[in-house]
Amino acid sequence: MTETDLPPDDDQWSYAAPRDGTLPFGRQKLPPLAPKWSAPSADAPAEDVWKDFEQVQIRCTMTMCDADLHCFRLKAKTALSPGSCRGCGKLLVSLDRTAARNLDDVDATFVALQRECVRHYFWHVPFGQKALDYARRAGWHKLEPRIEKHIRQAIGAAEPFRDGYQTPTSRATADAVHMAMHAVAACCRTCANYWHGIPKGRPLEDQEVRYLTELARRYLRARLPDLPDEPTKIPAHRRPPNNVHPIQSPSQPGVPVSHGQDSAHPQAS
Ligand SMILES: [Zn+2]
Ligand SMILES: [Zn+2]
Repeated sequence: MTETDLPPDDDQWSYAAPRDGTLPFGRQKLPPLAPKWSAPSADAPAEDVWKDFEQVQIRCTMTMCDADLHCFRLKAKTALSPGSCRGCGKLLVSLDRTAARNLDDVDATFVALQRECVRHYFWHVPFGQKALDYARRAGWHKLEPRIEKHIRQAIGAAEPFRDGYQTPTSRATADAVHMAMHAVAACCRTCANYWHGIPKGRPLEDQEVRYLTELARRYLRARLPDLPDEPTKIPAHRRPPNNVHPIQSPSQPGVPVSHGQDSAHPQAS
């Protein structure tokens, strides 16, 4: 590695060689990274751009460039260099830096991930009931070992089945580890490729699984700061029929979840 022609104090660039399949784009000055990443706790109400998050249609390629939330997954044929937004075209992050997969640089990786609209969503929206229950029923001690299993199962193979669709995005179906996998770009091989420089078409290597697992673990620690180590007993919730999306009444605090059949509709008298 040669550092001779690089300014010594410029921490916006990693010094990794261009990856396979990338062109040797000339060095361009990147805007500074945001000072830090953020992760509200998983049961905190949504804020700012995500206040109406339930109306948002989650797509990998969504952008809200006006709110500084972009998409770095470029089209196959594009004149943009890696780290540019496919929506506004601005060069904003160093994907060579995140592809260095350096845990000592994990804060910069998290800042960069949060610049992407779909990642930012998964870092900031509240967990659905399923994800919260999943985490609490497991407790940290049982949740932690599931991260690696989830990642291996979803993206470990050379050609995962229906790659890009294997990790649930909806709050009705995503568990806590799925939320983490989207947030840290371990949801499919395409995301792992452009964010972490992990080639497609071959099985994940152990060190790659370990790295992605550690990112997801830190995400879950940040979003579930009070998760007890031990499992919490949570009774089953009554499911709406036919998987219909429940329409939440705006404000009925304190109304307990009902488990009986008719007891869900007590007589008002
Ligand atoms: Zn943009
Ligand atoms: Zn993905």
